[in-house]
Amino acid sequence: MRIKVENLSKSYPAPGEPLSILDNLQLDVSGGDSVAIMGPSGCGKSTLLHILGTLESPDSGSVSLGETDPFALGEGELAHFRNTQVGFIFQEHYLLPQCTVLENTLLPLLVTREDPREGEARAKDLLGRVGLLERSGHRPSELSGGERQRAAIARALVNSPGLLLCDEPTGNLDGETAGKVGDLLVEIQESVSSTIIVVTHSQELAGRFNRQLLFSGKNLSEAG
Ligand code: ADP
Ligand code: MG
Repeated sequence: MRIKVENLSKSYPAPGEPLSILDNLQLDVSGGDSVAIMGPSGCGKSTLLHILGTLESPDSGSVSLGETDPFALGEGELAHFRNTQVGFIFQEHYLLPQCTVLENTLLPLLVTREDPREGEARAKDLLGRVGLLERSGHRPSELSGGERQRAAIARALVNSPGLLLCDEPTGNLDGETAGKVGDLLVEIQESVSSTIIVVTHSQELAGRFNRQLLFSGKNLSEAG
């Protein structure tokens, strides 16, 4: 999915002047490309990912996700678009504690009403690829931090989204585990050909992706 953002601005209400976070930001990512976004804490990285993921709307500017202008859609259409076209991986895994790894991976399929057997085959294939097939029946509390993030990767990809958004996906992991999860993200992204945008503080993780962008002020510039 090609991502094209033009003149995107976003501010939050604050006492006195609104707090301007993104100002006339431009971003153009080819379909299937992989991009890392870096920048200091509080500069607006999560805000940008939330807008790209249609969880928040911009104040002004345009966002095209593939052929779609998500902010022109009605509420129901937008929810359907988000559920089927966008996968999210956050710093926290947000797995449901009462559900098994397989059930967690299947959750995004509840809204798409496709044949459950096909969904389950895809979930198991993804769990195999992230090395968790034998742990399918376990609950998140029985997994390590790295394994939980691997389950979150499988869940994010089960609908084969055109866009995969990752917000500090290895931020809670130790260096070695972070490296393995990073390898897995790159390997899986290449095989599913989703466009991937990863926010990270890790130079090492950022270096695994095709492009590195850096926040400078309230806009993005190509790093290096
Ligand atoms: P980053 O992910 O780069 O650390 P964020 O995008 O989370 O930064 O936040 C950017 C700025 O916007 C911060 O100063 C933060 O406090 C502020 N902010 C984020 N969300 C809100 C909100 N819902 N209301 C008001 N301010 C917010
Ligand atoms: Mg953030």
